[in-house]
Amino acid sequence: NSDLILYVNLELINKKSERRYVIIEMLGQGTFGQVAKCWDAETNAYVAVKVIKNQPAFYQQAIMEVSLLSMLNEKFDPDDQHHIVRMLDFFLYQNHLCIAFEMLGHNLYELLKRNSLRGLQLKYVRTFSRQILDALVVTKDAGIIHCDLKPENILITPNVKTAAGVKVIDFGSACMEGKTIYSYIQSRYYRSPEVLLGYPYTTAIDMWSFGCIVAELYIGLPLFPGASEYDVLCRMIEILGGQPSDDLLREAKNTGRFFKHVGSIYPGNEVQNAPISAYRILTEEEVEARESKKPKVGRWYFPRGRLDRLIFTYPWKNLNGENLSETEKTDCLALVDFLRGLVEFDPNKRWSP
Ligand code: ATP
Ligand code: MG
Ligand code: MG
Repeated sequence: NSDLILYVNLELINKKSERRYVIIEMLGQGTFGQVAKCWDAETNAYVAVKVIKNQPAFYQQAIMEVSLLSMLNEKFDPDDQHHIVRMLDFFLYQNHLCIAFEMLGHNLYELLKRNSLRGLQLKYVRTFSRQILDALVVTKDAGIIHCDLKPENILITPNVKTAAGVKVIDFGSACMEGKTIYSYIQSRYYRSPEVLLGYPYTTAIDMWSFGCIVAELYIGLPLFPGASEYDVLCRMIEILGGQPSDDLLREAKNTGRFFKHVGSIYPGNEVQNAPISAYRILTEEEVEARESKKPKVGRWYFPRGRLDRLIFTYPWKNLNGENLSETEKTDCLALVDFLRGLVEFDPNKRWSP
């Protein structure tokens, strides 16, 4: 990725000895390091500074974060109109790479928790979705895959006088399309079928995660909260009422970890409405026999069922959807249709931003 590194003039990473940033409090912690709310004595404003762990792998990936974000900010969103976090500065401090960002508010997972995981009103789901999509249009145009979209990485923008808003943060796992290096990416609940199955991936994996996020904002709970990758796949198959196509399963590297090849015709295929497939998902016993340990399987938080049932019954917890007004029913139908385009197994059929 030498062309990208040009965006980071490494000589600019000067060792700062003057005390420009004063730590006020810790904001969050992630895999890559810690994020602190700081007072910027030069601009007299609060900023969020991500202090990267001082290990080579984290440093390398953080350089990638700096490169991709400066490219996005400067070249693709110079006027800060597309709901992507602004990077303000980066420097080395006591051997730690530090990245200063504009100060934003709570993340969407915290927002859902404050709301007792009951989900947001549809008007907020709509506003936030539109803004995240705006960011995804830009990242796709830039040929960047975010690789870690999830509610924790979408932050509320504070002090906006008129309306609620969000911004996408954390390009710490991002990469360029066509230059994908890692196969173990995305957070498990938001992991796309092609990444789970080991199939070449594109910016379409962000659209899968986005679909999971939209559903979660509405129902208040993760759509596929699997305790293992196997569990995530089982939930997808149950909730979506189908499985990835045979073409995808035939070519994916990890198919054998989750599916059994049962020949071209398998009349016993219990997956309702699914076309008859040469593959069927393994049973828990078969996974246990194959991996010599029981697969981790989590509990179901909501009534088991199909996507439309989930959308129609949450957050009202009205199992028949009877109490919905005509407008609410229309909205639910539209939301189900929208989600169907996003949580689509086939990356080529999945909707683009
Ligand atoms: P991950 O484990 O998701 O890879 P990470 O180590 O890459 O995390 P970030 O996601 O960048 O770190 O930041 C961790 C947390 O810190 C965020 O979820 C958020 O709550 C908080 N945070 C990050 N950036 C900001 C910001 N600009 N303003 C306010 N809070 C922030
Ligand atoms: Mg993060
Ligand atoms: Mg990260």
